Amino acid sequence: MVDELGTVRRTHLSSILNPSLEGQDVTVMGWIIAVRIHGSITFVTIQDRHGPIQVVAKRKVCTDSVRNTLSTLKYHSSVAVSGKVAKSERAPGGIEIIPHNVHVFSAVTKIPPFEPAAISIKNIDTRLESRCIDLRREPLQHIFRARSVVLSAIRNYFLGNDFTEISTPKIIASATEGGASLFSIFYYDKEAFLAQSPQLYKEQLTMSFEKVFEIASIFRAEPSRTNRHLAEAISIDMEEAFVDYNDIMSQVAEVVRVAADAVRQYVKQNDGVKFEPPNTDKIPQYTYQELSERIQDAGSNMEWGDDLHPSWLRKIKLEGLYFIKDWPMGPKPFYVKTSAKNPKISESFDLMHNDLELSSGSTRVQDKNILESNLKKKGMKVASFKHHLSAFEYGMPPHAGCGIGLERLMMALTDTENIRDAVFYPRDVDRLGP
Ligand code: ATP
Ligand code: MN
Repeated sequence: MVDELGTVRRTHLSSILNPSLEGQDVTVMGWIIAVRIHGSITFVTIQDRHGPIQVVAKRKVCTDSVRNTLSTLKYHSSVAVSGKVAKSERAPGGIEIIPHNVHVFSAVTKIPPFEPAAISIKNIDTRLESRCIDLRREPLQHIFRARSVVLSAIRNYFLGNDFTEISTPKIIASATEGGASLFSIFYYDKEAFLAQSPQLYKEQLTMSFEKVFEIASIFRAEPSRTNRHLAEAISIDMEEAFVDYNDIMSQVAEVVRVAADAVRQYVKQNDGVKFEPPNTDKIPQYTYQELSERIQDAGSNMEWGDDLHPSWLRKIKLEGLYFIKDWPMGPKPFYVKTSAKNPKISESFDLMHNDLELSSGSTRVQDKNILESNLKKKGMKVASFKHHLSAFEYGMPPHAGCGIGLERLMMALTDTENIRDAVFYPRDVDRLGP
């Protein structure tokens, strides 16, 4: 038996229920997170999007039918309860509801794989398999509500600084950074790919809009199982004309600062939330050169030109937020500009949090001939980039930009260890559902 919503509507959210409403009739709605029966009294806790509400059904005070219905409810069932507000010092918000009417919109019959109030559950796959109810749990609620305020703060930052929001195609004809991690798809009678990044389009859009940003999915067929790689992630991309990578570093520092401030604000407004965003006051900058020397001095067998492994960065005890700039040219994508001072070095940076890369950026090549020669050096087909290259014949401005991984940023801001908990429905090498 399920009840229809019909004309029943919520009158009060948990957050506005308080002792001054004593004696009033209210209707609350939400899902069941606890049912306790003590002899002739049944205590039910309903959770709505703002918090818990206690309902107390006593024999002789409530009808048997209301008390029986409440007593047999299982976790997660979705309900409406109408009743009178009574003061109660120990209950959430200082009130409880004495019910006279219960609507059960959806009665749960299955035993859920974990309790709604569970704080930590060892096996993440157990949770991911039932993600819809996992996301009802408080720790995840806070991560995703914080994510929402972070996104809003970042959008406001860009819009307030004269950036235009763009959306670029996610179905593309050729690889941006080389073909290894591309997903291929059927596109009518041709092969196409899912975009690894909006790189080439955002560069072209600086020709007409100068300052652009995009917040959208990127797709990477990452072969490895790590706590920091997804097959589908959200990238916060920015690109700007008439600036270089140093200007972009200042810009990213600002973006991360407004994001951290938004989380700090969220913490203030929500009791019990323990997120401690890293210090964003002055983000130190190290060159690749100086860090590689420190890593070698610490006894690791790294060679100049190697990527800086997380374990090496841990070994030299780099903590908090910091930039690594002036990376070797070798492994950088074809669109990254060579340093004017040293042909082995690129005008590029990574923003790090501890040993986690949050962002990569660079000054871009703006000369078509150099792009062509870079493509050839990397064994990529110049012909596949003919549209992109032709843009460079029509007044491409000098430009620079970067991409910030939203999930990785949220990991840093909310002390989340596994990237899968910073995304609603993670996609990785082992997971394509739910
Ligand atoms: P990594 O070396 O950590 O694999 P990357 O250097 O390949 O990352 P970039 O191409 O520089 O990644 O992408 C820019 C940013 O996008 C990264 O700094 C990261 O924050 C985010 N990002 C890239 N790939 C992924 C992924 N597979 N899952 C989640 N975030 C990603
Ligand atoms: Mn990178």
